[in-house]
Amino acid sequence: MSLDFKDYIASVPDFPEPGVIFRDISPLMADGKAYAAATDAIVQYAQDKGVEMIAGPEARGFIVGCPVAYKLGVGFAPARKKGKLPRETVSASYGLEYGESTLYLHKDAIKPGQRVLVCDDLLATGGTIAATIELVERLGGIVVGTAFIVELTDLHGRDKIKGYDILALTEYA
Ligand code: AMP
Repeated sequence: MSLDFKDYIASVPDFPEPGVIFRDISPLMADGKAYAAATDAIVQYAQDKGVEMIAGPEARGFIVGCPVAYKLGVGFAPARKKGKLPRETVSASYGLEYGESTLYLHKDAIKPGQRVLVCDDLLATGGTIAATIELVERLGGIVVGTAFIVELTDLHGRDKIKGYDILALTEYA
């Protein structure tokens, strides 16, 4: 029986600021069957692509990517904000609506030539995932796909990661 992931996404108007509809995946995480179904769909996609490693940005990229890594028996590389990773890192900056943010990966997080799936909860403008892809590639990883629970199609995040394959389990305009 297939389930509609939209039934497990809460839409919260004007959060965290007026005009934004926050698509909250926590009801999906709270439901064991729905969380497993989302994980299994990404596992299937990753298996088809021969994925050897998963990478994801903090914090919800961990929630999506870690159970997939566990099921596949591969590793997970956390992309983190400033000041969180204790050893030598590479960094990539990306634009936000106001200002800029930077993500970091440990230099030994990805082995050259590894086939990597990059995961996050949601694709909006694409800045976060593009920065994560950049980090993986700087370390010699091959990004064979990207996976999200939600894609916000009107924000055209896909245009920022043209040429990369995308799995999105649900879409909102
Ligand atoms: P972007 O870099 O614009 O693609 O934004 C993606 C990141 O911001 C993801 O890590 C999301 O968790 C978060 N995000 C952006 N917009 C939303 C939204 N409307 N609802 C929930 N999370 C969002």
